[in-house]
Amino acid sequence: MKAAVFHGKDVGLKIEDIPVPQISADQILVKVAACGVCHTDLHYIEHGVPTFKKPPIVLGHEASGIVEKAGAGVTNVKEGQRVLIPAVLTCGRCSACRRGRENICSAMTMVGNHFDGAYAEYVAVPAKDVLDLPETIPLEEASIIADAISTPYHAVKNRAQVKPGDTVVVFGCGGVGINTVQMASATGAYVIAVDINPRKLEWALEFGAAKTIDATKVERVSKEIKKLTGGGADIAMEVIGNPKTIVEAFESVRVGGRLCVVGYTPEVISIVAGKIMFKELEIVGSLGCRPVDYIPLIRMVEQGKIDVKKQVTHRFSLDELGKAFEVMKEGVSLRSIVIP
Ligand SMILES: [Zn+2]
Ligand SMILES: [Zn+2]
Repeated sequence: MKAAVFHGKDVGLKIEDIPVPQISADQILVKVAACGVCHTDLHYIEHGVPTFKKPPIVLGHEASGIVEKAGAGVTNVKEGQRVLIPAVLTCGRCSACRRGRENICSAMTMVGNHFDGAYAEYVAVPAKDVLDLPETIPLEEASIIADAISTPYHAVKNRAQVKPGDTVVVFGCGGVGINTVQMASATGAYVIAVDINPRKLEWALEFGAAKTIDATKVERVSKEIKKLTGGGADIAMEVIGNPKTIVEAFESVRVGGRLCVVGYTPEVISIVAGKIMFKELEIVGSLGCRPVDYIPLIRMVEQGKIDVKKQVTHRFSLDELGKAFEVMKEGVSLRSIVIP
């Protein structure tokens, strides 16, 4: 089968012919319909972030497809079934999993990171983790639910706890950010989107933002937000992972407000601790989503509350995967998918 194999930072990605993966009794072989192209892959390819499985490894972690073959012990999935493969698989046994917080599982594994992923014609995954995709959701575009939409669902619903009527400011309108805008807006919030790319701010308006702020055009974003909201947002969500933006997001919430950090940075941030106490602020982090979140989330897509079709702006074949990363870097794509 054809696959995009990553050989480490020096060699990079190569399109190769490799054997179709073997499956064990509890696994299924999925014929990949599409795989979303994610910024995380760029971290492995260009920024030296190591993959858990040493290269060579097939990347790609946002996949949908059709079950080609089920292992001897599989009872929950049938051949020919349309499935979504979650980006992260959980162990079900560690203390976080036992507390119902599988998304922070201490033994989690990730498709296209711990084992071969879905920039390929076929991928092998445990049958217990996949989700049924209803016929009403387009199979190829559904791939992006696996990460770009599931992460915002958990962040907006469970961690930021957005309620109808809340004022929510979203910092960063990339793939996950735009869906944070869409999810918060679908929940009934008044959403203010912040970015430095005018095209992304236009998209934010299309996906439900009530107002946008171009961070390059104002003196201080937090000041602008306080002006727009009469004292600060109920909730600020940082979806970039930039230390300065996280501080700015912290500064934009009202007394008693909440900051939800969705973007990742290894760096230290500096905030005035007294403000947390005196203003009774809440700071929460958000990582991925739990298996239990997928069913309501898929239903929201089915009902049209969350749009997947409009946000897939580019489609590529496996051979063109390099081009998908180019358009991502240029900031001209909202979400690209690869059709093997
Ligand atoms: Zn991803
Ligand atoms: Zn676990």
